[in-house]
Amino acid sequence: MIREIEAKSLLRRHKKVESWFLSHYGLNLYRGCVHGCAYCDGRAEKYQVTGEFDRDIDVKVNALGLLERELDPERRRKPMPRSFMVLGGGVCDAYQGVEETYRLARGTLELLDRSGWPVHVLTKSVLVERDLDLLKRINRRNRAVVSFSFSSADEEISRIFEPGVPPPSRRLEAIRKFREAGLACGMFLMPVIPFITDTCEKITETLRKGKEAGVDFVIFGTMTLKAGRQADHFLGVLGKHYPEFISRYEDIYPEASPWGESTAAYTTAVHRIFDRAAAEVGIPVRMPRRLFDDILSREDLVIVLLEHLDYLLKLKGRSSPYGYAAYSLSQLKKPVSQLSREDLLKVRGVGPATAKVIAEILETGTCREYEELMERFGNPASFPPGSTGNV
Ligand code: SF4
Repeated sequence: MIREIEAKSLLRRHKKVESWFLSHYGLNLYRGCVHGCAYCDGRAEKYQVTGEFDRDIDVKVNALGLLERELDPERRRKPMPRSFMVLGGGVCDAYQGVEETYRLARGTLELLDRSGWPVHVLTKSVLVERDLDLLKRINRRNRAVVSFSFSSADEEISRIFEPGVPPPSRRLEAIRKFREAGLACGMFLMPVIPFITDTCEKITETLRKGKEAGVDFVIFGTMTLKAGRQADHFLGVLGKHYPEFISRYEDIYPEASPWGESTAAYTTAVHRIFDRAAAEVGIPVRMPRRLFDDILSREDLVIVLLEHLDYLLKLKGRSSPYGYAAYSLSQLKKPVSQLSREDLLKVRGVGPATAKVIAEILETGTCREYEELMERFGNPASFPPGSTGNV
């Protein structure tokens, strides 16, 4: 059933710049998703999507009016920090079937184009090809990145767990089209399904196909399984097609976890597989700096590169002080560029070595450690210092 609703607000502001999408803002045009992926955590009670998640779709019919007002600089006390605006993720796919009728995603892109915002779209639907003209224009003026999500490139597994979306081969074909049109594309290999698409063979195969299609980067993630509607639905599908794995899921998803995370031992092991596969295939595991360093403020660039460094080090099994430092910096009232070295060293999690990295990023727009770690994934180092690597 389609329900037309009036939303009270649209833009969701993140507390700090978000380092997968390079964004301060996201929005949901719909609630619920007919794509019906078995693992979708939009079903979880915490998101308060009412009705049958994959059948009852709420359409925010006033979304474009709201967005126009929320983007209007005259109505804001402070300017909005510049970053990508994210269309996708959350509790719906903006390009699911109802979009053909309501055209809210297209209207959103038109508004973002008029207001001069860079855009990052994440979808599993090839309906996004309809908006290629508009995305090309946004890309020329402000930049657009189009990402597709996958749990693997296996057509049969996709049919079971992603019943309402085009097969992986069709999504890869769409990536080729966007790349040929000059847009950067990402692959969100997220979530990998435990014991089914998380093997070295499946991950490597998916990355190879993504690389052949031309993806610029991959974002990887394991599956969460929150007790309640999400777990009930997923385990129902798993029990029907792969009953032999049910008891192994009980081992890696402890019931007490409120976020539904898998155990640390499982998560670490799968990330190690991904790390080796991505290095072997040669795909950057975060959006390359050249796609965002001329969009973000230097303050946000510091936070993002510290978080990327943190991820890259942990992926290799090393400890890192950078994630905590990035979080502490994001909570400060004063911009990091205005802190003296003494004040910087008083920030929680910032020691002399991290302070040096922060100073290097503020001065050059990057740092040697980050460039070297990214080089492992086929992202050529764009040092020496002074180069911002802008496209
Ligand atoms: S496409 Fe995304 S939002 Fe829709 S069901 Fe699948 S995972 Fe959920």
